[in-house]
Amino acid sequence: MSHRYQLEPVVAEWPQLSGNIYCIGRNYADHAKELNNEIPAEPVVFLKAPSALRALAEGPLAFPDETFHHELELVLLVGQHLKAQSEVGPDSVAAVTLGLDLTRRAVQDQLKKKSLPWTIAKSFAGSAVLAPFVSARGLDLTRIDLQLEVNGEVKQVGHTRDMMFPCSTILHYLVTLQNLYPGDLVFTGTPAGVGPVRRGDQLRVFSDALRLNANGRL
Ligand code: ZN
Repeated sequence: MSHRYQLEPVVAEWPQLSGNIYCIGRNYADHAKELNNEIPAEPVVFLKAPSALRALAEGPLAFPDETFHHELELVLLVGQHLKAQSEVGPDSVAAVTLGLDLTRRAVQDQLKKKSLPWTIAKSFAGSAVLAPFVSARGLDLTRIDLQLEVNGEVKQVGHTRDMMFPCSTILHYLVTLQNLYPGDLVFTGTPAGVGPVRRGDQLRVFSDALRLNANGRL
């Protein structure tokens, strides 16, 4: 497939995005509680279509009138071909960034009530927002702080030590089910503090551990 989305900054050894976007739900207990969800016994996995990808600094969102929920997440860029049922080594992640899993919460609540798939609540134009990637080399993925500001106000503050399923466990779990490919993305779940955003809102994502500080208008 062809890709509209290049990595920023473009680093030669990182793979191009494959288009596969795995997402983990309910990975922080404080967020599961705020939505009255049970604490899962194994990772909750859902997908977004590649058409959902959007750079943080890209132009306005396609939806002028709708309000979404922001979910700030650490996002992994897989760097290796990991065969289904194989072992996942420590170098399997090439790069990471902060992203937003934009969600139509009211639509998702309706779908959950009917026990239907969440897809249209989670996968739509611009719903997988990515800040520029940074190298994962030397990073301890259990020690990443993450923060989101909306219109200058801090909305979400989290730390990956609070994940119920750390990044290594998530990758192990995904590889029990299918191959992972270079350029696959994994959204690793959101801490508490999700809330409304809409087109025109000014976003800032920030992490000391990643030395990342990126802005964009939704
Ligand atoms: Zn999410």
